[in-house]
Amino acid sequence: MPSEFELIARHFSRASPGARLGVGDDAALCTVSTGMELAVSTDMLLAGRHFLPDAEPEALGHKTLAVNLSDLAAMGARPRWALLAIALPQADEDWLAAFSLGFYALAGRYGVDLIGGDTTRGPLTLCVTILGEVEAGQALTRAGSRPGDDVWVSGRLGGAALGLAHLQGRVKLDPRLAAECRLRLDRPEPRVALGRALRGVASAAIDLSDGLLADLGHILERSGVGAELEFARLPAEPALAAGVPEDLARHCLLAGGDDYELIFTAPPAQEGAIAALAQRLGLPLTRIGRIVEGQALTVRDAQGRPLAIPAHGFDHFADQNDNRPWPISRHGP
Ligand code: ADP
Ligand code: MG
Repeated sequence: MPSEFELIARHFSRASPGARLGVGDDAALCTVSTGMELAVSTDMLLAGRHFLPDAEPEALGHKTLAVNLSDLAAMGARPRWALLAIALPQADEDWLAAFSLGFYALAGRYGVDLIGGDTTRGPLTLCVTILGEVEAGQALTRAGSRPGDDVWVSGRLGGAALGLAHLQGRVKLDPRLAAECRLRLDRPEPRVALGRALRGVASAAIDLSDGLLADLGHILERSGVGAELEFARLPAEPALAAGVPEDLARHCLLAGGDDYELIFTAPPAQEGAIAALAQRLGLPLTRIGRIVEGQALTVRDAQGRPLAIPAHGFDHFADQNDNRPWPISRHGP
């Protein structure tokens, strides 16, 4: 059996040129660039709750880091350093090698250094702490939306939730569409470049982890505003149009988690800048509604009628799938 130190040395000790001192000492040392402030976030993934216990380890390495990068993207921060705490039932070298490959591949693409962590025996649990930098005073938060702002979302919605529904046998997709949705579920792409570019453009932002209504609900609550969305404008993952039952499709769009797109608000004067940004990034950015006075979130159909969303808020809507063996949301039930 390899020792804990051998495992760390073999799988989690690549060079970390962006830190003064990385893995191997009692603490890592990093220098925050002049004029920047530190943005820090942590997210935990538990086997059986946030991913299937037999999930493919390389994809899991990607996703564990991706969900954390997504949080920094939503703040407009540039990711720099990560810490990784792992509990493993046994020292499975093949599993660790594949996990580490997926983790480092994504880290490398974003210039993130793994600078430390912790490794223990226990039920499979993965926890990343991500550190990034953002120009002092320029971070995007959930709190800046004003009545009259437009509501925008990046990418396509509902693919990850549809992929999960397919895995659970709740819907049968043709193999090509199923593979596309599995990619959305297993390998989310954090919208880091978008988040950086939205500084000075967006009035508020959040990443889409728990579902559109739930996550937009957090912006509304923190900003003290309401919103009106137009259902027909929601940019649906193409697979949702391929014979998926309407209630499931609607659920995936409004309450499906794990898409890791960004929802943001911006004054109407920013529309041109946002369109140019979509072009530059090759990423759809879609205006889906408007911020209004009050605190209600209304979704209207093509005729302008409000869709039936449970009156008691977004959590109940997001939780309607609680009979599934594990929830879509990384935050758990
Ligand atoms: P300590 O006993 O001081 O907590 P550890 O033995 O837990 O140190 O870890 C030794 C070194 O390896 C530390 O620098 C720690 O940050 C790093 N480390 C431990 N586990 C991981 C991991 N999974 N990924 C990256 N670095 C790790
Ligand atoms: Mg330790």
